[in-house]
Amino acid sequence: MKRGFLIDMDGVIHRGGELIPGAEAFIARLQREQIPYLFLTNNSQRTRRDVATRLSRMGIAADERHVFTCAMATARYLARHKPGGTAFVIGEGGLLTALHSNGYSIVDRSPDYVVVGEGRAVTLEMLETAVQLLLDGAKLIATNLDPNCPTATGTRPGCGATVAYLETATGSRAMSIGKPSPIMMRAARKELGLTTSQTIMVGDTMETDILGGVQMGYRTILTLSGGTSRAEIDRYPYQPDLVVNSVAELAHFSGDLSQVVPAGDLLDDSVHDLNDWKRSAS
Ligand SMILES: [Mg+2]
Repeated sequence: MKRGFLIDMDGVIHRGGELIPGAEAFIARLQREQIPYLFLTNNSQRTRRDVATRLSRMGIAADERHVFTCAMATARYLARHKPGGTAFVIGEGGLLTALHSNGYSIVDRSPDYVVVGEGRAVTLEMLETAVQLLLDGAKLIATNLDPNCPTATGTRPGCGATVAYLETATGSRAMSIGKPSPIMMRAARKELGLTTSQTIMVGDTMETDILGGVQMGYRTILTLSGGTSRAEIDRYPYQPDLVVNSVAELAHFSGDLSQVVPAGDLLDDSVHDLNDWKRSAS
């Protein structure tokens, strides 16, 4: 049975600008064995082409077809929900490009939406404008709700922190499109042309990658090479199907890599217990 991987980037493939050992071998194996894969990121700063170039420079063979960002998911969702709409944007190139190429105009008066993404260019003036536009009736959309982002030197506030600021000031509640939202998780699967039971999500964050995969019925693999330690996993009411120290373990897995976790839709209600699960996997 054909299977494929949705692969988080930060903490799985690289940490900041540094490649995680084994990542190159993992991707090379997917390519060699013609297993479909897609890099999935909640970072909306870069376009898919920028992300592919950055990966290539780190030694990972990738072109833009292998990249799916929360900015793309957000822009596609908005284009479908309200074609030809307008947005006031707090964010950077990746988000602006995605909105433009999906038929959106960027405005600073009377927008349909205030769209908030990742970015370091946010000013108090932009936040003030956004607050007024929201109070005047614009709807609040977030590319993701990640509270913070790891950097080479520590931690910086993430998109979720900016969104919380706007929510507190206006009483509006944002709709978020990035991981773990089913909107992005489903769009990524469809981009790969897979069914639910064929999809495996690999990530380092329980709240986004693993929760997003579990909610969709995908199989999930947690890597300990990023933000989650083994001791933290038990605190969550949901669990990954497999835990690995890093994708190096997947690169060197001795069996059929596409069967490293059992196949099957976890939310398929015809599967009642672990034994059914094992039978359906065999
Ligand atoms: Mg990550």
